[in-house]
Amino acid sequence: MDDVWDLVVVGAGPAGSAAALRARQLAPGCRVLLLDRAAFPRDKACGDGIAAHARQELALLGLPDVLDDHRPTPRLSVTSPGGAHVSAVVARPNHVVPRRVFDARLVEAARARGVEVRRHRVRTLTALGEHVLIDGHLVARAVVAADGANSAVRRLIGVPPSPDRHTAIAVRGYADVPPADDVQVIVMQSEAWPAYAWSFPVGDGTANVGYGLLLPALRQTGLPGREVLHGRLARLLPLLGGISSPVRDLRAHHLPLSSGRPAPGAGRVLLAGDAANLVNPLTGEGIYYALLSGRLAAEAVIDSPGDPLRAYRRGLRRALGRHLRTTDVLALAARSPGFIDAAIAVAARRTEVFDLLVDVGLGAGTVPPRLAAAVASRWLRDAIR
Ligand SMILES: Cc1cc2nc3c(=O)[nH]c(=O)nc-3n(C[C@H](O)[C@H](O)[C@H](O)COP(=O)(O)OP(=O)(O)OC[C@H]3O[C@@H](n4cnc5c(N)ncnc54)[C@H](O)[C@@H]3O)c2cc1C
Repeated sequence: MDDVWDLVVVGAGPAGSAAALRARQLAPGCRVLLLDRAAFPRDKACGDGIAAHARQELALLGLPDVLDDHRPTPRLSVTSPGGAHVSAVVARPNHVVPRRVFDARLVEAARARGVEVRRHRVRTLTALGEHVLIDGHLVARAVVAADGANSAVRRLIGVPPSPDRHTAIAVRGYADVPPADDVQVIVMQSEAWPAYAWSFPVGDGTANVGYGLLLPALRQTGLPGREVLHGRLARLLPLLGGISSPVRDLRAHHLPLSSGRPAPGAGRVLLAGDAANLVNPLTGEGIYYALLSGRLAAEAVIDSPGDPLRAYRRGLRRALGRHLRTTDVLALAARSPGFIDAAIAVAARRTEVFDLLVDVGLGAGTVPPRLAAAVASRWLRDAIR
């Protein structure tokens, strides 16, 4: 048996690395073990879009420069399912960095901060009073489960998987685009709504392109998932603009949406990132929430060793409570594509509304009642027409 670890983090994606980094930042002497079944660098199916909000989290973790060698993407273009369109410069630029690069950088930063990183796939977990026993030989005072959308640790602590109706699935690939392309394009689809295709230019003459929809809508087709996802992406490519090659490296994965979030852990095991269903149900954005929840989980473990889960719940509620309630309601309203048409139409006319929608879709934003009323009245007007 190993010595006792103050914190064992399972999964070295953004949530896990953030937890490990934060723990050593707050308590430089603590023993932190970061486990991942993969060797880094490793690929991860993702749009590679890193919101400005995530960059703020990276700065808090002591990594303000980690994206500096990647060109910012200043413009966002969104077309609603009914064809309303907005294209505008975002208040703070986003970045597009392939996950093979981004995640490996975070793991390296954690290692440099004194975190022990090991390649190991976690299979069993047992509560042992004040400790947790992992795979029969690792003993931890607390565990952060950041093992992604199909979290094994979540299952092992008895938390059910994300319900299908709160789970999306998306495919991404890479294609050639003009090197100067710096617009993140999102084209929503009325077919199988809610669904959308995207093109996020990396800045090196390639773009991450993809298509996603809800899992029940995919199942309804009765066709193999691969056929639906690859076929629709191929069909939608001409709408994404400037793509000049076939799509390569296609890869799909689930997105557990926050509208179906579970209890954020059990006992001394805290769930973070996708393992906690922290993906925005309106946009599919998850990296910001992964970084934020990983950080909060580590803060709870270090500052409240007696009952980290209670502290973590409190931290999540403070940071994201209002936002999550807002997106719960908006995800319900957005079942009607007309609601999104109205929101995008309003955003096209008013910069402050565009900025606010970006904050809600990519960060911890909420909707002031006045704006909700403006969108609702436009939605009603369009519906009556
Ligand atoms: C196609 C697609 C496009 C997306 N586009 C975007 C986007 O553009 N922007 C955005 O912000 N979000 C996007 N998302 C969501 C985003 O990818 C996730 O929210 C984010 O990766 C969550 O980070 P995480 O650290 O929680 O989990 P992950 O990044 O999934 O990391 C989990 C880690 O756990 C490891 N692991 C799993 N099981 C075990 C085990 N048993 N033992 C040890 N290790 C284990 C895995 O190897 C992996 O490294 C997209 C998702 C998909 C599927």
